[in-house]
Amino acid sequence: MATYLATEAKLSCRCGEVEGVVTNASPQTVNRVVCYCDDCQAFLHRLGRADLLNAEGGTDIVQIAPASLTFTRGQDRIAGLRLTRRGLLRWHTTCCNTPVGNTLSPAVPFVGIVAQTFGAERAQSAFGAPIGAILGKYAIGTAPAGSTGINLGLLLRAISKVLGWRLRGRAWPHPFFHKQTREPLYPLTVLSNEQREALRPYCGPLPTAR
Ligand SMILES: [Zn+2]
Ligand SMILES: [Zn+2]
Repeated sequence: MATYLATEAKLSCRCGEVEGVVTNASPQTVNRVVCYCDDCQAFLHRLGRADLLNAEGGTDIVQIAPASLTFTRGQDRIAGLRLTRRGLLRWHTTCCNTPVGNTLSPAVPFVGIVAQTFGAERAQSAFGAPIGAILGKYAIGTAPAGSTGINLGLLLRAISKVLGWRLRGRAWPHPFFHKQTREPLYPLTVLSNEQREALRPYCGPLPTAR
């Protein structure tokens, strides 16, 4: 097995107001996966950032331990969005609507960051290429090979990463939650049912809007 030197990877929103750094970055310490689900698509359409989706509607996501991510600038420009009252909390900047991390509650410690916030070259050198694709049934056009159905290898890897981060104390400090209260650090908006439904025509597998 190849060994990699863990490095730091800087991330930035599109306009540069918000910056952060991921420590302990290496292909072995993260999961980099392309997600084709309609929620990830809906989120980026809601932000007006469909430019971050690939041609088939996929989002290139790097999953890391919460303690690995620190924002170094522009924290007052971070806000969260929930597509429904349950499900992921999707954090983004308010300056230029760049996604900066998907999370569940801090009890399930991981942060999924859109790879482009690192820049394509830096993402590649720090994390390696995506190791797979998931939820291809929502892909627009032809689903990428291996992206439909359950990918047991990827699933087990994701679960073991999250468990490991939890066991090794990498859940805290969390970049999006207070340690004591478990409350979000940033303002959070939940879409109404109507607002959520309005995004469906833009999303795969068969979008009817542009
Ligand atoms: Zn910005
Ligand atoms: Zn997704």
